[in-house]
Amino acid sequence: MSDTDIESGNILAGDTSSISPENLSYMEEALSEAGLAAEIGEVPIGAVVVQAGKIIGKGYNRRETDQDVTAHAEILAIRAAARYLGTWRLDDCDLYVTLEPCHMCAAASVQARIRHIYFAAADPKGGAISSVDSYLDNVATFHSVGWTGGLLATESTKLLQDFFRLLRERNRNIDRSLGSKGARLRWRKGEDTNREDP
Ligand SMILES: [Zn+2]
Repeated sequence: MSDTDIESGNILAGDTSSISPENLSYMEEALSEAGLAAEIGEVPIGAVVVQAGKIIGKGYNRRETDQDVTAHAEILAIRAAARYLGTWRLDDCDLYVTLEPCHMCAAASVQARIRHIYFAAADPKGGAISSVDSYLDNVATFHSVGWTGGLLATESTKLLQDFFRLLRERNRNIDRSLGSKGARLRWRKGEDTNREDP
């Protein structure tokens, strides 16, 4: 995903029948989590799990930090909620996430029996809910998950665009100090070869 892949605009989609101020306040909490990801140089995506008016799990994208493809914000928030409740069954819980979930996170939400997913910005390249797939609408399963997209999408999109702009600026500065883009890529590769053996 890059910033050019992110749709701008605040287009509500899915079940928009009962969006409340509470829904927006939980999405604001998810945006705060996304901000924490940006602070450590991760693509800013955040998530919270809410049960009966209480946030019981939070997470933000840590894929690079943990070198773990499953360390998406949604997975970490689901894990935290399950730890809090002492059960993997989150059937009266809602998930709020700042970017449309991928297939992995959509499937994990079904497995966890999440009641409803609220997401902010759509992800035209990887979003499994309404962009590249309609996974939650089509999945034939014992448990169906409702969804609503577009809550605070403008705020989420801005966070992502600011992050990618800073990343481009940083790369340009490194290119300038190393002399070329090729030098930066070789420098990165050099970093990789310094990793320790298991
Ligand atoms: Zn995901």
